[in-house]
Amino acid sequence: MLPFKLIYHPGYDLNIGAHVFPSQKFRLIAETLLKEKVAAPEDFLQPVAAADDDILRVHTREWVRKLQTGTLSASEAMLLEVPYSQELVEAVWLAAGGTILAAQCALRDGFGCNIGGGFHHAHAAHGEGFCAIHDVAVAIRRLQADGAIQKAMVVDTDVHHGNGTAHIFRDDASVFTLSIHQLNNYPAHKPPSTVDLNLDDRVEDDEYLETLLPAVRKGLDEFRPQMLFYVGGADPYCEDQLGGLSLTKKGLHERDRGVFQEARARGIPVVTTLAGGYARRVEDTVRIHVNTILAARGVAELRDSAHS
Ligand SMILES: [Zn+2]
Repeated sequence: MLPFKLIYHPGYDLNIGAHVFPSQKFRLIAETLLKEKVAAPEDFLQPVAAADDDILRVHTREWVRKLQTGTLSASEAMLLEVPYSQELVEAVWLAAGGTILAAQCALRDGFGCNIGGGFHHAHAAHGEGFCAIHDVAVAIRRLQADGAIQKAMVVDTDVHHGNGTAHIFRDDASVFTLSIHQLNNYPAHKPPSTVDLNLDDRVEDDEYLETLLPAVRKGLDEFRPQMLFYVGGADPYCEDQLGGLSLTKKGLHERDRGVFQEARARGIPVVTTLAGGYARRVEDTVRIHVNTILAARGVAELRDSAHS
């Protein structure tokens, strides 16, 4: 049994069929965790869809209405880059509910892992790049509204810049946003995060880790957040179809473990979400995300044994 909960719902599948975004990955990750006995059925919790009031702390009423009524303009539909459907809307409301639940679990258990979410390109008033609703922002604002936390830090390791996160929190001193990404990649316009780590093409494991981990340490020490939200993209992987970095699976695993260790060493709860992953073989994307859960388990157990 895991020392924390995995949040998953079969409705996370965006039902977009043959698409570069492998939305069946959510199910495949959950199945792999069970099959390989990393997790037992009782380790999983099913979220409910986020309430509209939760969504509206981040998104405009107009954007929520357009999604719910299927009235996106042609340009809005094009920016979103996934076909609009009622299932898509249900999936992103569920993913936001999932990240809220993962955050609530993390307060109690130290970790909470959403096997979904990380929709970091979503903006307050529009969607972009497969992301319609910003689940991490919704969860942060919900926990702040509940008085559970005041300050949060987002560490975004997806190969693409976290433009939605940066824009949503641009004037909000209570949220520290860090994005490490390939500079020469989508999105073309990158609004400033609190810290942007811009990487050249084809950066490998060592340089990546030497760039990321000191910045995470500095952010944690200076900002002192009460929760860390981890956007754990699988797309810095060397064989990713939409990424141009050269990380190995081992390097990605070290990335996850390194960030989690820094947070745990300071007693800061960690919420993990998945974000992108477009490896030629979907098995690779699934493995990288499964490894994130294994990294969380390893760090959680380290600390537990140190305390017993
Ligand atoms: Zn990405």
